[in-house]
Amino acid sequence: MSRIAFTSASLPARKRIALVAHDHCKGFLLDWAGRQRERLARHELVATGTTGMLLRERLGLPVESLISGPLGGDQQIGARIAERRVDLLVFFWDPFEPQPHDPDVKALLRVAAVWNIPVASNESTADYLLSSALLKQAHEYRIPDYASYLRGRQAAD
Ligand code: PGA
Repeated sequence: MSRIAFTSASLPARKRIALVAHDHCKGFLLDWAGRQRERLARHELVATGTTGMLLRERLGLPVESLISGPLGGDQQIGARIAERRVDLLVFFWDPFEPQPHDPDVKALLRVAAVWNIPVASNESTADYLLSSALLKQAHEYRIPDYASYLRGRQAAD
């Protein structure tokens, strides 16, 4: 059984979607985003530096660009997930090439699992997520109960 207690939180209908693609996967992400442009346009988009620049050009939509992934952008997105400022992650990581920032990639996937946000690592999953009824509506989901976590830490002292 988990040592972490959970609580529930609500998400609004308009989601904050983070997008990241490694270099050899950028073409797949751009083509997918082009197909899904209408759905993506209903949400707030944030991306790592290069991915964001390319998405803005391709979609003609506002996309907030953070720092480029190898320079810390994956960590920035991870921090936003922990702060509950990102609701869904589309992360096309490259299964064929090691990356200089592999520890950051692992950290990003881990924090997304901790905060129970949906993650798509390929086009098929991304299509399923974007066609989910939950994307269009406000809903509840389970997150770690941070207040009770801190109380537990205090009691452990
Ligand atoms: P980039 O970063 O969008 O700046 O290329 C992506 C990554 O490699 O994590």
